[in-house]
Order: sequence, then C-alpha cells, then structure tokens
Amino acid sequence: MSVDKASKTLPYRGRLAPTPSGYLHLGHARTFWVADQRCRQNKGVLILRNEDLDRPRCKDAYTEAMIEDLHWLGCRWQEGPDMGGPAAPYSQSARMKFYLRAWEVLKDGGAIYPSPHSRKDVERALRAPHEGEADPPFPLALRPPEGTGRDEPEPGRMNWRFRVPVGESITFEDGKTGRVKKEAGKDFGDFLVWRKDGFPSYELAVVVDDCAMGVTEVVRGEDLFTSTARQLLIYRQLNQTPPAFYHCPLVRDEDGARLAKRHESLNIRTLRENGWKPEQVRAGGKIILPSQ
Ligand code: GLU
Repeated sequence: MSVDKASKTLPYRGRLAPTPSGYLHLGHARTFWVADQRCRQNKGVLILRNEDLDRPRCKDAYTEAMIEDLHWLGCRWQEGPDMGGPAAPYSQSARMKFYLRAWEVLKDGGAIYPSPHSRKDVERALRAPHEGEADPPFPLALRPPEGTGRDEPEPGRMNWRFRVPVGESITFEDGKTGRVKKEAGKDFGDFLVWRKDGFPSYELAVVVDDCAMGVTEVVRGEDLFTSTARQLLIYRQLNQTPPAFYHCPLVRDEDGARLAKRHESLNIRTLRENGWKPEQVRAGGKIILPSQ
C-alpha cells in the first residue's frame, strides 16, 4: 500500500490529541505547538480531543490542567470538550458507540480476530531473534484460522487483533520526513484493536475519531511512525481516506536522549513554576533542566 497526501484539497482540519494521564510534558507540548502552527498556516480549524480512554489512569483534574497548560502555551482551538462543535463529543470516553460500530465493520470483514492469549503465551511463542525487543511482532503461530470470531455479536471480554498482511510494505509520504516505509509482519505484527477491559485500543479509537472529525492532517511525534502504518491498514479496511501525516522530531536532552515521561521536572506545570516562558517551550531545541 502506498499513500500520498490524499486529503490535500480539503479545507485543513487539525487536532491536538492529549491523553490526560498526567500533566502535559515538554515533549508533547512542542508537538502540540507545531500542530497549532501548521493549522494556522493553513487557515484551518483546530480540534482539541481528550483521549481519556484509559479510565484508571486518566483523571478529570489532568484534563483541566491540560486545557490550561495548552492555553498558556498559546494554542487556540475552535472545537473541543470545553467549547463543543459539530463533531461532539470530543472526549473519547463518550464515543464508545462509534468504536463499537467500527469494531463490527472490521469483524464482519474478517480483518480482526479474538485473541485469548496472555502476555506469557506470546512471550513463549516468540522466536529467539525477537527476544528482548521492546515490541516484538505478535507471533503468527498464535493467529487463529481465517473466519474466527466472525459470528461474535460483540467484542466481549476479549482482546481482538488486526490480521496484518504479512510481507506487505506500507509506505506514506510524511510532511516532515518524506517517504516512510514499514513492512507488515516484520516491523509490526497483528496489533490490538480491542482490549479485554472493554475499550478500543489507541490505534482503533484514533482512526475512528480522525475520520469522524474530518481531520485532514495528523501532527504527532516521530515515535509513532509504526502506529501510523498500522492505522493506514485500519483506514483501508474501513474504506476511509487517510489524512496527511506530519511527524515531529522528538525533543531530546543535552545528550541526545529522548525525554521520557519519567522526567517529572519536565512537565509544563513544573516548568511554569520554575519561571519558564511559553517561548522556551515552543522553541524546543536544547533543554536546560530546571534545578529543583
Ligand atoms: N493520545 C495520543 C498520545 O498522546 C495521541 C497520539 C496521536 O497523535 O495519535 O500519544
């Protein structure tokens, strides 16, 4: 599959899609600022989407803090949970019926299957070369025969995985990086679309929402290249036109290491308390760790 800036002719609609499982982090904030700027340059409409599906970890207080921090940073959106809009609701926890409908379409099309395997089963079935990798492809040995799960009326308390076309190259033209290529079955395997705790996976929810909200360009961090390739397979299966993509370089510290969430001191709240100005966060670049 090869995808080239399919939505280019539509009026620009961008989105900020933070997850309120903690305070907004410097790394995310920089990406949100780029998203805001690209939307303005294209005279578009910006959407704020509250990605609060991880119920145990997401808190309303974090959603409020995130809205406040984004305002402080200078981001301005025209649709969102705080102001409504034509694609409401803008909080994922209120959008379950859309995800269930997509699950049904994928299931009826034979693209997904229920997967009862535990993490242990997966680890046991993995071939040696993949051991130790952070996210090894799901082993084909654990994939059930075609048609499995087709008669299920609902997802139930089960994981569901997308059956990837092993060996197919997924390529797309990224607005920042240029041509990106991932191979199904090698760079990623059968991935989760529904979780046994009753919620859709990130990959499914984000595709369903970007389609429903008419997003024409997705701006996200370059740590999500592989996710974008997975999502392109979902778009194709749902018969939807994918948006354009723009993957931002990740903010790194002085040693070139990626800023991890565990750097508590790099959340926007703490930086503000330490006297940082919005311009410093927007600029990214060399990060000077605030003294605590
Ligand atoms: N909520 C996701 C995150 O914060 C959004 C990623 C995306 O842009 O799709 O990582």
